[in-house]
Amino acid sequence: MKPLGPIPAGYDALNGELVIAGQTVTALVAKAGGTPLFVYSRELLDQRVATLRAAMPKRLALHYAVKANPFGPVLEHMAGLVDGFDIASGGELAIVQAAGIDPARVSFAGPGKRDAELEAAIAAGATLNLESEGEAARALGIANRLGITPKLAIRVNPEFDLKGSGMKMGGGAKPFGIDEARVPALARHLIAEGVDWRGFHIFAGSQALSADAIIETQRQTLALAARLAEESGAVLPKCNLGGGIGIPYFPGDEPVDIAKVGAALAERFADLPPVLQGTAFVMELGRYLVGEAGVYLAQIVDRKESHGEVYLVTDGGLHHQLAASGNFGTVVRRNYPSAIATRYGAAVEEEASIVGCLCTPLDRLADKGGFPRADVGDIIAIFCAGAYGASASPAMFLGQGPAREMLV
Ligand SMILES: *Cc1c(COP(=O)(O)O)cnc(C)c1O
Repeated sequence: MKPLGPIPAGYDALNGELVIAGQTVTALVAKAGGTPLFVYSRELLDQRVATLRAAMPKRLALHYAVKANPFGPVLEHMAGLVDGFDIASGGELAIVQAAGIDPARVSFAGPGKRDAELEAAIAAGATLNLESEGEAARALGIANRLGITPKLAIRVNPEFDLKGSGMKMGGGAKPFGIDEARVPALARHLIAEGVDWRGFHIFAGSQALSADAIIETQRQTLALAARLAEESGAVLPKCNLGGGIGIPYFPGDEPVDIAKVGAALAERFADLPPVLQGTAFVMELGRYLVGEAGVYLAQIVDRKESHGEVYLVTDGGLHHQLAASGNFGTVVRRNYPSAIATRYGAAVEEEASIVGCLCTPLDRLADKGGFPRADVGDIIAIFCAGAYGASASPAMFLGQGPAREMLV
């Protein structure tokens, strides 16, 4: 048997069923009208943000990275919890606006912004995190034509990266941000052009579980921001420190020691160089805020054996949960936390693989895990499905279409 990842806190059993926000999975599936289904818990979103706020210095604002989960009701709920939103496309701008979020709370990073996207963001009053000199020139031209003073920040491509991070976003050549050495010249140019200067965005990586690595990256980020601000000849209005706080997905993963990260940041904030003393600091997080608050539910439609191995074939699959199948940036496939949701808490009786309904060997949600015996009609749960599930999986593959989603 292969181990399964750790089930996040906050999930209970009732009458042998998994309960999410006080409701059994059977009740939730009935309410949603069927499976496959993503369920997101308001209560767990609230708790996560509250825990993080309590650990971090008051001065640190909190942004939500929309790409982790752009489901409308989740965005609307997050709007009451966080200070701002980070988007990465014109499509996400439209989604955020549809959720009633004030674009003044939004910053837009991401390479390859098209003119129409720049124009929509400038017209709406969102902040652009510029990814290149070329993009800066296009943004200035568009703002000029519109007669609007644009809110512009520079995304910096730092020379360091976040150690142990799942996805490296800084260090060396990158399509993201502007190399450190070229930042001061562009910043001086933008300030001279009379833009609404919004400072720097420095994102060095994602999905880190080591508090020490995050602390070290924040130290480097603040030092870099100070140096670049000095060289730009202006105090820094705002600095987005990135994020990178990960969640445990796999056997042996431990949650980040948030209290330690917050204490270290508070110490740094108490000892800032003059050029950063008036700076507004922001941290942007996606998966840490929403990942553990979501569960993916699918129903077993077939139970079969092949060469002595048990397959629980579900109506879901990698088209909704690409990451759980091990095909979204992982090198070695390991099991996400998973369970038979309609036999929740029952003893392990057999080794089985939970697979999807796609005709590809990649479509495996749990590989040779230990589960209670499950049959056709039972519902399986894949945890840590609140981030990069529905939004980062090829829902149209094999004509399957998207899963249902609900916030409870
Ligand atoms: C993806 C992304 C995030 C969110 O990353 P998480 O790992 O989900 O926290 C934040 N900022 C930027 C610039 C990103 O590209």
